[in-house]
Amino acid sequence: MVIVMKAGASQEQIAHVVNRIKELEYTPHIIAGVERTVIGAVGDERGKGILTTLETLDGVENVVPILKPYKLASSEIKKERTVIRVGKTGVEIGGGRLCVMAGPCSVEGEAQILEVAHAVKAAGAHMLRGGAYKPRTSPYSFQGMEEKGLKLLAKAREATGLPFITEVMDTSQVDLVEEYADIVQIGTRNVQNFALLKRVGKCRKPVFLKRGLSTTISEWLMSAEYILSEGNPDVILCERGIRTFETATRNTMDLSAVPVLNELTHLPVILDPSHGTGVRRWVPPMAFASVAAGADGLMIEVHNDPDRAWSDGPQSLDLPMFSDLMTRLKGYASAAGRSL
Ligand code: PEP
Ligand code: MN
Repeated sequence: MVIVMKAGASQEQIAHVVNRIKELEYTPHIIAGVERTVIGAVGDERGKGILTTLETLDGVENVVPILKPYKLASSEIKKERTVIRVGKTGVEIGGGRLCVMAGPCSVEGEAQILEVAHAVKAAGAHMLRGGAYKPRTSPYSFQGMEEKGLKLLAKAREATGLPFITEVMDTSQVDLVEEYADIVQIGTRNVQNFALLKRVGKCRKPVFLKRGLSTTISEWLMSAEYILSEGNPDVILCERGIRTFETATRNTMDLSAVPVLNELTHLPVILDPSHGTGVRRWVPPMAFASVAAGADGLMIEVHNDPDRAWSDGPQSLDLPMFSDLMTRLKGYASAAGRSL
């Protein structure tokens, strides 16, 4: 249920409603909007008090059910779009400005990550990406530099000023990753790892939730709900391609997910055309199309020597290609009413 407060409802009235929600054994989530505050009351509804009785409390405009199975993620609860601030870095995701996250699939060493970080910064990227814990299909493939990789990403942040995003694969790694990273990434293969989702729901950092290889949009939003319901309001969704019968591309990038998500949820949406296509030369056209479709930003794999990359070389742009993409992206961004 959503308890919609009247415009100008006092803090005392809001606090009273929050207390009543707790008494009825639901969890309150306060969403302060520009005009009015709404309070989400979520929880298992069986055998509990009746929330519609709150309609008579002072300061309450009305009480409305949320029809979607996901509640806090739904645009029914929050009409305004969520803008996520990345720490105190000044980087925002979901506002008028596109956010471009770029960097190698894997951190491979100090020289590599520093060279790529400086280059993507010079080209205009807003964040650095790089994997320290790698979810590889084969156990014999490179598994990531782990904490050493996190330290190198931190070094690159210090050298360039770019905040970074990196993946966490397991609950046991969350403490460490959240200490270093500016945004914590949940990869495709973990989209329904509910223990991990609950754990990052308690993180102090924003969470970047990639779509699973075969999750529907509704299932994906239910995964976002796991994070939100644990108290972390900063969830970013990332479409990175899904499994279909098509084999020409590595995955099938579901561009139509962008307008669908922009209708169903207030959360920001980022597109990853690198994993979405798997082929370097198809990354720029899909990046431009993503912006036209209404994406809030892009995640792009970039490597200083893609042919020798330890993972995902075929889909990684080299440094001049990334710089060219950023130059061309400006026109698409402004046509879509965004800055870069
Ligand atoms: C990645 O971002 O490097 C990655 C492993 O992505 P995904 O989870 O989308 O495969
Ligand atoms: Mn990758």
